[in-house]
Amino acid sequence: MAKIFCIANQKGGVGKTTTTVNLAAGLALIGQRTLVVDLDPQGNATMGSGIDKRALELSVYDVLLESASIAEARRRSEKGGYDVLGSNRELAGAEVELVALERRDQRLKTALAAVDGEYDFVLIDCPPSLSLLTLNGLCSAHGVVVPMQCEYFALEGLSDLVNTIKQVHANLNPALQIIGLLRVMFDPRITLQQQVSEQLKAHFGDKVFDTVIPRNVRLAEAPSYGLPGVVFDGQSKGALAFVQFANEMVKRLAGMR
Ligand code: ADP
Ligand code: MG
Repeated sequence: MAKIFCIANQKGGVGKTTTTVNLAAGLALIGQRTLVVDLDPQGNATMGSGIDKRALELSVYDVLLESASIAEARRRSEKGGYDVLGSNRELAGAEVELVALERRDQRLKTALAAVDGEYDFVLIDCPPSLSLLTLNGLCSAHGVVVPMQCEYFALEGLSDLVNTIKQVHANLNPALQIIGLLRVMFDPRITLQQQVSEQLKAHFGDKVFDTVIPRNVRLAEAPSYGLPGVVFDGQSKGALAFVQFANEMVKRLAGMR
């Protein structure tokens, strides 16, 4: 059975997509069969996996509207070693079209059930909002991974997300839990970041992952080559951190079962 995770944070530019594609590539490296679902109309996870979003014949849009299955719409990230259910601007329209449809928040969950046996991990890259698209992700998932920068307002922004997750847990998906908070773009030379990191650990305890993803320019360069950083420069500090994180995820799940 696949373990399904949303990579979510309603803020933009916090490292969701970077976490999704590099965790996927890291999991693939250690032999885990992985599917990335790009739920953001920006299509950055699609492009960053080496798949041209403009050339997609079928995408997550068609899957949400139930005119295609995941088996039909998925593509292979050859370099990444994982599968991708891609997205592009068309997905922005799905938000409006879904509102009028039945089971509008359960569409992705239903579609994923059909490929459940084919994967160990499904990683859902969420858009920077708590929208119907994100809700489809949260209703499908066993857990949420929250990437965050250790900045002054980080904790404040977190409470909206935590409340949404609590509501989805109570009303729509009792399986949903926060798997962990991942500190990303971390620079240990910045005192404030160290302080916020300590606050996070004090508030959330072992929900804070041990792995810390450093700020690393190779991770930022990789998407322009259509590659996850883990593949683009496997020896960079950022890549090594994401492989370590993949191992931590596998270990954490073994403890959850
Ligand atoms: P989101 O998906 O939350 O909007 P992204 O993953 O796209 O965020 O990251 C935002 C920007 O920060 C991108 O340009 C990305 O390349 C860069 N970035 C993300 N993580 C790192 C990191 N650890 N080090 C350096 N740059 C990073
Ligand atoms: Mg993104």
